[in-house]
Amino acid sequence: MKFKDAALLRAEWAAKGNPSCGHPHTATVLFLDGRPMGFQACTICGAEIEWPPKPPKT
Ligand SMILES: [Zn+2]
Repeated sequence: MKFKDAALLRAEWAAKGNPSCGHPHTATVLFLDGRPMGFQACTICGAEIEWPPKPPKT
């Protein structure tokens, strides 16, 4: 997704009161020209996610 789309998702998520999100689906964040920015964002809430993701805490 484009960086601005992730920002829009974050704004919408914040408007909902920032409910918890397990980030079940992520997409590579892209510059406007389509180059990857080097990180992913949750397609649900727009949170920026390190890539590769850290293993979940047990
Ligand atoms: Zn999320």
